[in-house]
Amino acid sequence: MSILTMFKGVRLPRAAAPSPPVDLAPPEKVWIPLRQHQGRVCDPVVNPGDQVGLGQLVGTSEEFEAANVHASVSGTVEAIAEVYDPAGQKVAAVAIKNDGKDSAYVPEGGLPAPVGGVDDIMKTRPTRLLRRLRDAGLVRSATLGLPLHVDLSPPMAPRSYMFMTGIPVVRPIDTLIIRAVDVDPPVTPNQACLSEASAELEIGIIALARIAGAQRVVIAVPSGQPHEALAGLAAAKQWELAKINSANYPAAHRNLLVHSITGRVVPTPYGEPRDVGVAVQPLVTALDVGKVLTTGRPPVDRVFSVAGDVPNPQTFRVRLGTPIGEAIKAAGGLPANSGKVIVGGPMQGYAHFDLNTPVTKETCGVLVQSAEHVRSFRNEPCIHCGRCVQACPVNLVPAELSKLCEFQQFEDAADRDLLHCIECGCCAYVCPARRPMVHLLRYGKSEVLAERMEQ
Ligand code: SF4
Ligand code: SF4
Repeated sequence: MSILTMFKGVRLPRAAAPSPPVDLAPPEKVWIPLRQHQGRVCDPVVNPGDQVGLGQLVGTSEEFEAANVHASVSGTVEAIAEVYDPAGQKVAAVAIKNDGKDSAYVPEGGLPAPVGGVDDIMKTRPTRLLRRLRDAGLVRSATLGLPLHVDLSPPMAPRSYMFMTGIPVVRPIDTLIIRAVDVDPPVTPNQACLSEASAELEIGIIALARIAGAQRVVIAVPSGQPHEALAGLAAAKQWELAKINSANYPAAHRNLLVHSITGRVVPTPYGEPRDVGVAVQPLVTALDVGKVLTTGRPPVDRVFSVAGDVPNPQTFRVRLGTPIGEAIKAAGGLPANSGKVIVGGPMQGYAHFDLNTPVTKETCGVLVQSAEHVRSFRNEPCIHCGRCVQACPVNLVPAELSKLCEFQQFEDAADRDLLHCIECGCCAYVCPARRPMVHLLRYGKSEVLAERMEQ
């Protein structure tokens, strides 16, 4: 076991160890968005008035970059209408009125045969396992997560930047990292599952390693939090354990995790861990994979943290499509002087305006802030203190980039590696002038990308 450290980024207050997730009662109505990932929107396969069972397919697509969506309660389809997704964009969704019966749907021809154990996994072809994950509509659990079958497939074509960096064009994956440490505490769904060491988790990890082709499995756990169950599982299966200091933000970011565990550098701006032979999956996704394979059913819930200024911060197991306001209510509700509700964590999340926004497969949780904890930004000039340069984990010069974006010098900013920014928010966190750094950088990146798509 090794203790891994990093030298840039910022030190955040260490979040308290979260307790294991508790079940939240299903709501009276769920809204199932037809896109719950980065990629294509599914087409609905049900109509208003239809009766649906728990786990029934309600949306699908022929496109590779799409993930099927399923009913998370049994009941009646009331409408197909637009809702705001967790990123604040409108997307079509299927509204289902819950009949409270949780009548499970069994497709014609029956459910796929459950996987009995590790031997079954090793006898099943990786492409068949991947097909089952695709049918179940699994998504890598993360803000703007990819469909899992896309994330686990090797790049389909050589990417041009690889020729410049000297990285082999298509490198086989040899390492699987299971990320049991959360990127943006105190929203901590993975750390809430640290006591999980079930047969489902074991099967999930083994299936992920088999699909990816990885011989080495490393479980990244937060230092300073009990993780005996995972340590025991790792020791039994001869997997490695790496301790990550979760107070060192953004140590658990995928690219930085790959570097600290394997020494490999993920090429930015467009590269991904799989380009350097590594697959990184959150612990909760490995659990979902295990459940899908052992039950033959698609996931209907997800682990969702409600953190911050609520009376009882808690991690819940929430039915997909539950309004985030219901989960906040279960944690005690908004404070009287409520300031912001941020979907995701404080550093990388998106402030949201609609508590009816449904929980989706890519939502990790929400942070509630009272008015006195809301950090206000000012459009003050930079005082050239250099703190943002010290903090930037990918060695950019955020002060210069933010000024170029502010004055719409987008191509100059791109020449100074604007697109390499991982939007971690460290520069905004340390800036004494309270400049809206991430806002300016996101604005600049979107303008550069829009310009390049037009060319
Ligand atoms: S410039 Fe980007 S990567 Fe660097 S600290 Fe700021 S947000 Fe993070
Ligand atoms: S931290 Fe803020 S004030 Fe200091 S150099 Fe960076 S942008 Fe300027």
